[in-house]
Amino acid sequence: MAHSSLIIIGAGIAGLAAGCYGQMNGFRSQIFEMHDLPGGLCTAWERQGYTFDGCIHYLFGSAAGQPFHQIWQELGAVQGRAFFHHEELLRVVGPKGKRLIVYCDPDRLVEQMTALSPEDAAQSEALGAAIRRFADFDMTLMQEVPRALLGPSGWMALGLEMMPFMKPLAQWGLTSAREFAERFHDPFLRAAIPQMFGWEDIPMMVGLSLLAYMNQGNAGFPLGGSLDFARALERRYLALGGEIHYEAQVQRILVEGDRAVGVRLYDDREFHAETVISAADGRDTIYGLLGGAFVEREVAGRYDGHLPLHAQLQLSLGVARDLSEEPHWTIYLLDHPIEIGGATHAAIGVKHYSFDPSLAPSGHAVVEVLLRVPYGYWQRMSGRRRYRNEKAQVCRQLRDFLESVYPGIGAQVVVDDVATPLTYERYTGNWQGSTVGWLLTDQTMTLMIQGMDKSLPGLKNFYMAGQWVEPGGSVPVVAMSGRNAIQLLCHAQGREFVSTLAEA
Ligand SMILES: Cc1cc2nc3c(=O)[nH]c(=O)nc-3n(C[C@H](O)[C@H](O)[C@H](O)COP(=O)(O)OP(=O)(O)OC[C@H]3O[C@@H](n4cnc5c(N)ncnc54)[C@H](O)[C@@H]3O)c2cc1C
Repeated sequence: MAHSSLIIIGAGIAGLAAGCYGQMNGFRSQIFEMHDLPGGLCTAWERQGYTFDGCIHYLFGSAAGQPFHQIWQELGAVQGRAFFHHEELLRVVGPKGKRLIVYCDPDRLVEQMTALSPEDAAQSEALGAAIRRFADFDMTLMQEVPRALLGPSGWMALGLEMMPFMKPLAQWGLTSAREFAERFHDPFLRAAIPQMFGWEDIPMMVGLSLLAYMNQGNAGFPLGGSLDFARALERRYLALGGEIHYEAQVQRILVEGDRAVGVRLYDDREFHAETVISAADGRDTIYGLLGGAFVEREVAGRYDGHLPLHAQLQLSLGVARDLSEEPHWTIYLLDHPIEIGGATHAAIGVKHYSFDPSLAPSGHAVVEVLLRVPYGYWQRMSGRRRYRNEKAQVCRQLRDFLESVYPGIGAQVVVDDVATPLTYERYTGNWQGSTVGWLLTDQTMTLMIQGMDKSLPGLKNFYMAGQWVEPGGSVPVVAMSGRNAIQLLCHAQGREFVSTLAEA
């Protein structure tokens, strides 16, 4: 087979996956990554012996024989890797101590919710039934073959496979956790349910599928953390003969006529290839790297600011305290909402990672608080001093809060670290620091189901992969998106797409 050349922008999970499948299919590929390490958002950072994980809470595909597992076998990410499986996703605790434990097991969840509110038993039962229903829903169905390659018989086959799930999808796909909560009478459940999957606007279908997958052991935490996980993909790519250029920021995608032909870096070096895949930020790819030359109405409409993104801040602490007996993730409902980082928060979530001893010295723990905050608030801050002061203020506020739930913890903090939307933007280039690209809500759900184009109108030999063409992002979905880009490329070149499993 003739070796055609391929350039990939970005060594996040999508770019690394595209690289691996490119190599498996006989392309000579090179990845250009602006940072000095792989993973993009799928990352972690070390501070004084603590590893602060910046990404994976749950990874779909952690169980053999279950959806998404095969792609991780192909990418060499699960071989020899242990996963931690939680019995509960998180728990929500009210101001007076009442609590909703979001068990992954639907029977336990329903039993507990019914005990909390017998008069809401019917709604709780419906929730449990939906979790059991989504246990059989294979989310990879929608990505196994890129939509553009399905053809009439492919659409027909997909339709038949999806048929049994149409009703639950219609019922739960466009209902948010906040809306579902309104069906309950019990005041505590009405307040707790919007928090039960981490954010209020989450379509219930997403949360229910998550619990179903967790209950089957197919959404575990990869021990060693997110960066270690990304490094496995880097190793697989290099073993397949790929080449990665780090600290190599692409400034421009080179175009001749209607074809992408290569990239120019900020240091003015130019590299040429027959095909270019951008697995970097969507907006920067379209308006920056391509100078806005291939934008038509639909594309422009996506980036006009009306679709929901997800900007957040993360406080990470290394503490000299053993938290291994504490629940790993608790969302506290506040008596009085509190203003932090430019937003008013009615609840604060606290996580610790003591279930993975590799992330902290023995007897110590890593604690994290994640809060959704508006990007604009941070972006408008003028000057480094103001930014530093604001970070310090957030740190103080959250440490005070932590003291109220873990008395004495203030004196046990060894190191703290605050990542803001500007941190995510600076390190990964993602528009407005969005951690998932387009946030999955009822507004973007349809886009996710329909599928977004992986190419741009009028530009040949070019594809996009990653979270900006897969609403909701997530590590397995963007890996599939890298795979999809190579499937499209193989199809365009008349080659049969092949994939191989990495050696154990
Ligand atoms: C806190 C947090 C929690 C999350 N939790 C989960 C979870 O539990 N489960 C899950 O599945 N997903 C989770 N996600 C989402 C998931 O991490 C992302 O959707 C996914 O990693 C995005 O991958 P990507 O390859 O599309 O993009 P990115 O990771 O953004 O990768 C893009 C890469 O391109 C590089 N780049 C950008 N511009 C250029 C340029 N001009 N030149 C060269 N390189 C460039 C960037 O440096 C980056 O490495 C979480 C994310 C965050 C931040």
